[in-house]
Amino acid sequence: MAINPGILIALTIVLATIFLFLKKKKGTAPSNSALGVVGPNGKLKVILKERQTLSHDTFNFVFKLPNEEQIFGVPVGNHYIIHAKVNGEDVSRKYTPTSVVNQKGTFEQVIKIYRPNVHPRFPEGGQLTPYLEKLPIGSEVEITGPHGHLEYFGNGKCVINRKLENGKIQKKTFKKMYMVAGGTGLTPMYQIIQQVCNDPSDNTELYLLYANKSEEDILLRKELEEYAKDKRFKLFYTLDTPPQEGWKHFGGFVTADMLKQCFPERDDNILCCSCGPVPMTNLARKLFLELGFKEENYYKF
Ligand SMILES: Cc1cc2nc3c(=O)[nH]c(=O)nc-3n(C[C@H](O)[C@H](O)[C@H](O)COP(=O)(O)OP(=O)(O)OC[C@H]3O[C@@H](n4cnc5c(N)ncnc54)[C@H](O)[C@@H]3O)c2cc1C
Repeated sequence: MAINPGILIALTIVLATIFLFLKKKKGTAPSNSALGVVGPNGKLKVILKERQTLSHDTFNFVFKLPNEEQIFGVPVGNHYIIHAKVNGEDVSRKYTPTSVVNQKGTFEQVIKIYRPNVHPRFPEGGQLTPYLEKLPIGSEVEITGPHGHLEYFGNGKCVINRKLENGKIQKKTFKKMYMVAGGTGLTPMYQIIQQVCNDPSDNTELYLLYANKSEEDILLRKELEEYAKDKRFKLFYTLDTPPQEGWKHFGGFVTADMLKQCFPERDDNILCCSCGPVPMTNLARKLFLELGFKEENYYKF
């Protein structure tokens, strides 16, 4: 059967576009990493080793890598995906590891569980996290990655896989980062905070406005406040419902005024970023642009 050359060319273009799109979305795992040596189906199998309780609905999951000498391999700024079959359905969700990038043999993941019958608007709860909460220790979990468009290389250097007006991929060294995070949207920011604060030679200044519903929802609070003793990292909180007494931070949703107070400078060498619920990240982007930052100085994780 003869194939019409026009159809063949169109098909080639479509396949090449899909390939380039997928390639662009995928980060690069270092060669000594578990994600650098995945099996033929492209998935890495890790073992659930421990599940440590952090709060009423949040756990630190510890996963064992296939080899004790391996690191996980998700670069700072990237994420990975957990895949599972839940009630016969394939479910995939994104996560950003909370352990340091060079941890060997295991990696750690803070996960908030969305249980059924807790929130009136979501009686069924989340799909994946209630499954992970009940997953027996020793079970296998399938992972793909790394994924993501931003990679942090230290000392403010970021490569952001998006094209600038001049057609080039954005590679820039930023002096400061202004971050707005909501709930579990903290984790990509936390990776960068860890990386900077653990490297005395990194002079990047980080400013985080971290929004939560209530005080007990603040993830990794002890760790954040420990890092905030470092003068390179300024930490601000806002809560929808702050405690009646003694709360020294902001209250209510993120506002322009809050951003002005937390993030004092307007400069091309500042990267503004946000991660969290969509309405919050949309608002953060709008407010950053209104404050005078350019689109290329804003990134949504
Ligand atoms: C780049 C990236 C990194 C991420 N990193 C992390 C991370 O490090 N840790 C982490 O915990 N999550 C992280 N997430 C979120 C994660 O991908 C999942 O969305 C989350 O775990 C919920 O999955 P689920 O299948 O249980 O919920 P879904 O089935 O996806 O539920 C959807 C939504 O329903 C709502 N909902 C359901 N039940 C409830 C409830 N009981 N109370 C309130 N709301 C409810 C919530 O809005 C929830 O997000 C990240 C997301 C992105 C995009």
